[in-house]
Amino acid sequence: MSSDKTFADIQPLFDFDIDGPLVVAGPCSAESAEQVAVTARGVADCGVRVFRAGAWKPRTQPGQFEGMGEKALPWIRKACAETGLIPMVEVATSSHLFMALRAGIKAFWIGARTSANPFAVQEIADTLAALPAEKRAEITMLVKNPANPDLELWIGALQRIYRSGVRRLGAVLRGFSMYGEHRYRNVPEWRIAFELHRRIPQLPILCDPSHISGERDMVEPLSHQALSMGFDGLIIETHCNPAEALSDSAQQIIPAQLNELIRSIGTSCRDSEIAGLDALRAEIDDIDDALMAILARRMKVAREIGRLKREANVPVVQPIRYKKLMEERLGQADAIGISDDFIRKIFGALHEESVRQQIEIQGK
Ligand code: PEP
Ligand code: MN
Repeated sequence: MSSDKTFADIQPLFDFDIDGPLVVAGPCSAESAEQVAVTARGVADCGVRVFRAGAWKPRTQPGQFEGMGEKALPWIRKACAETGLIPMVEVATSSHLFMALRAGIKAFWIGARTSANPFAVQEIADTLAALPAEKRAEITMLVKNPANPDLELWIGALQRIYRSGVRRLGAVLRGFSMYGEHRYRNVPEWRIAFELHRRIPQLPILCDPSHISGERDMVEPLSHQALSMGFDGLIIETHCNPAEALSDSAQQIIPAQLNELIRSIGTSCRDSEIAGLDALRAEIDDIDDALMAILARRMKVAREIGRLKREANVPVVQPIRYKKLMEERLGQADAIGISDDFIRKIFGALHEESVRQQIEIQGK
């Protein structure tokens, strides 16, 4: 992989001096001229320089709010002109890019559903490549991780944009959608961002704690975590009235909370933790999250078995099955460097909990 060479000439994302981490903030979606204007004023008052707002919203289900489209662009531009903010919008197709460029917008992000689609990214890249060089030099492009945890696909999307000639390029970790229940809306899988950084050290990587967490109370702690792990900045969904938001209502914070968060950033950055410790702790948290999801899945299947046993009128505990299960797992212990004693405890406890849940079912 010679990705490092591909990205030899990465330029700063913006011309202004960035003192500390870069913060991009604004609503998930631009909903009305008023909402955009009020939110932009609140965001600018926090000292933020870049304003995000979605005009086109890629939604998982049909029938959800898909954004106000092109007519939102003048609202965003006007609110930014009044506050000195730099507008940034999401583009998912070349026609979005044309419309936004026509409206005078020069900073963009590619969303998680789009960066997973090489045709869409290439179409955007081709549009960028066709711009006059001096116009292209003004463009800032952030590429969010694809919705699926595929680092090569993420790097591929970044390469396509880089090859179009855009040099103000950055990446955003917004987490990955996973099957099953998780603590996060999108599991961060921090190690994928660390590996991206290892492969392309000069590429700025921001963290999007809003889409990772899915809930506003987790935005601040996640922001601290990301910055102490060395992320270059944050992109934070901020709305003047989150309860009324037409998309991502639960995860948006108000400008006053953004202000508090930004004030608290200084202290978290001064923490002189042992190098690498936070990154490893974050990895442990990811693994524990995955373990919790697997435990929930195992118990769900155990309850299913409990129902079958009840219908067939057979006892919950079958010693032969238990003996076989334990022997199989003990046979694997050595190969993965874990003691027999630990495997016995873990699978003993798992079996005990399955039995308890099955007895509960039998009693019903
Ligand atoms: C967004 O930023 O509002 C958005 C749709 O993000 P993502 O692509 O990360 O889901
Ligand atoms: Mn959103």
